[in-house]
Amino acid sequence: MQTATCGPYFRRLNGLLNFSRYLHTQKHAVHVAECPRNAAQPLRLLLIGSPGSGKGTQSERIQKNFSAAHISSGDSLRKNIAEKSEVGLAAALAMNNGKLVSDDLMTIVIKNELDQLNSENWLLDGFPRTIDQARILDQMLNKSFQPLNLVINLSVPEEVILGRIMDRWVHIPSGRVYNLSYNPPKVTGRDDVTGEPLSKRADDNPDTFKVRLENHRSMTKPLLEHYKDILVTLHGNTSDEIYPQIERELVNRFGMLPRRLERNSSGINPIARRFRKSRAAPQVPEEPHFMTAGANV
Ligand code: AMP
Repeated sequence: MQTATCGPYFRRLNGLLNFSRYLHTQKHAVHVAECPRNAAQPLRLLLIGSPGSGKGTQSERIQKNFSAAHISSGDSLRKNIAEKSEVGLAAALAMNNGKLVSDDLMTIVIKNELDQLNSENWLLDGFPRTIDQARILDQMLNKSFQPLNLVINLSVPEEVILGRIMDRWVHIPSGRVYNLSYNPPKVTGRDDVTGEPLSKRADDNPDTFKVRLENHRSMTKPLLEHYKDILVTLHGNTSDEIYPQIERELVNRFGMLPRRLERNSSGINPIARRFRKSRAAPQVPEEPHFMTAGANV
């Protein structure tokens, strides 16, 4: 992780203040070594994870809790296709054949998204997918002096992902997705809204999925190597297990504070307010435990 030397002083100070507020909400002792390492930089995060690793869920949580913009290459392509843009029409040809969209097209799509960003913090998912794309992205970001400063690799055991896929059922006409383990339909095998039968997606079978996982592994390996200096691999079986680890990284490295702990308009953070009201020890729901920080690649 690079140390920023030229960021505005006030932002560094703000990062440290945020961090210190966060520490006050922690139930466990924190070591000095866990001081924020990079409080002066806004977040420029790349999220990497195999299909079924919960990348979408984590992106949504980061976006919501840290006011970060989320750029998903798949979503951007689908938006272009829906708008029938020139890029979208060309990309649709590749996507409909299950192929990757060319680097030239991807560069146009992602550059366009980055140019439109109006959020200081952002996260990318789905791009770059290849080492060539990583180099293109590096060049693009270096030109605007905003290189990626964190890559999070979500590591979920293959058997857990396969189990999840086997439990997944879809109502094809509406696209509603159910999972027998954590989001079952009210009536077994039937859509909650229409009562129509649920189906398996053609590619939700273990053999097809194993191939997708293997493809992802071989494509991702060079990316992980390319970004090894800013890479953190987080392990867990569920998104709920991994998300607190992500928060810990963002707080530790960037001095960012999850929204629920930010000061409200009265200048008091809600945890502190509750503490003052009840005069009891603050209870911090779903709070990440502080452990020794550092990349665990
Ligand atoms: P996703 O929603 O990320 O699964 O992406 C859907 C499809 O969009 C992929 O199967 C590819 O055809 C295309 N796509 C998304 N991101 C990229 C990328 N970085 N490079 C090439 N093609 C991509």
